[in-house]
Amino acid sequence: MTKIAEEVGTPVYIYSRATLERHARVFREGLKDAGPIHLAFAVKSNPNLAVLRILANQGYGGDVVSGGELERCIAAGMKAEDIVFSGVGKSQEELLLGLDRGIGQFNLESEEEGIQLAEIAASRGETASCTLRVNPDVDAGTHAKISTGKKENKFGVAIDVAPDIYARLSKLDGLNLRGVAVHIGSQLQQLDPLEKCYRRMGQLLTELRAAGHEVTHVDLGGGLGVPYKPEDRPPSPAEYGAMVTEVTKDWNVTLMFEPGRVIAGNSGIMVTKVIRIKPGVNSDFVIVDAAMNDLMRPAIYDAWHHFEAVQPTGDMMIASIVGPICESSDIFAKEREVDRVATDDLGIFRTAGAYGATMANTYNSRPLVPEVLVDGDRYAVVAERIKPAAIMAAEQVPDWLK
Ligand SMILES: *Cc1c(COP(=O)(O)O)cnc(C)c1O
Repeated sequence: MTKIAEEVGTPVYIYSRATLERHARVFREGLKDAGPIHLAFAVKSNPNLAVLRILANQGYGGDVVSGGELERCIAAGMKAEDIVFSGVGKSQEELLLGLDRGIGQFNLESEEEGIQLAEIAASRGETASCTLRVNPDVDAGTHAKISTGKKENKFGVAIDVAPDIYARLSKLDGLNLRGVAVHIGSQLQQLDPLEKCYRRMGQLLTELRAAGHEVTHVDLGGGLGVPYKPEDRPPSPAEYGAMVTEVTKDWNVTLMFEPGRVIAGNSGIMVTKVIRIKPGVNSDFVIVDAAMNDLMRPAIYDAWHHFEAVQPTGDMMIASIVGPICESSDIFAKEREVDRVATDDLGIFRTAGAYGATMANTYNSRPLVPEVLVDGDRYAVVAERIKPAAIMAAEQVPDWLK
């Protein structure tokens, strides 16, 4: 770690190939008794090409929410037929791209989107495989900003109108409506909301079949949580798999899954260097060279990332860990007991492999944080640090201002 920090610089994300592979295997293993399954990694959680390649090699497809993510999956070697396209705002261009690339499934989020896709596909003499995403009105019990399955959320169609919409869409040329999809939120700490949601989907399935529809696929989404704090006890993939197996035992469909965080979260850390310690009123400030632009989760979701020194002395200190950005939300830990660190020491933020680098930006004209993949005793830079000069090069002052 010290070697990577010296050679690549800080801040830097570091991912473990072995951990990514283990998580991919453990998730699949949890579902071994659930019948035919399809696994699509939620690309938005970590879209790095090397990470996607590892998952492709584990037999995972990709769950994408934009044309850009779709192109990444293809570039990383995922099979087009294993790609699932989710998202409320797929544009005409993105629908076309999905058809051009021959992706496996569109998860429709509204009747309007279904009509639009049907028209495009029919005009090309094609049939697009799709599911209808349903909003089951279940409270995922997670942070409001990562909750997606309550009726006031923008995602999917309300479960009470789903059968009618399903009936109308299934008549359209250009669509092969083959099932339903659901995803109620992220970082779920309990199985209960998921179980409640899946049981509602089971009732919907019965209702759709009673109305004469052939339903062959049900996409159960992602959302399984990971431990960010030592005391966190989210359900394990094995417990999740057992619940799914029990709830869906009579469904007779291919079950589809879109795990993101549970695969990538604990596969990555962010390494940072202490710039200096500044005395504060309540506690000292540890000012590190990483900031909210590099790891946004604490600023936008009040998320907790465990901090520790790379070379702990055994001493502890109460401190607030902050970045250099000119925003009060640029804080990773508030008056927390952490390993005692001093200027130039290296520290780690744990569980940063999901929704970390992918949300990074260059606010305050900071460089874009690089990513490194470790494989045993070797490592490779899998995303370079993009310097402010490269970003500035894409800007120009118009002639009429010169
Ligand atoms: C974000 C998202 C996921 C992945 O969620 P995780 O909590 O990372 O597992 C899966 N499906 C859809 C539709 C999503 O928007």
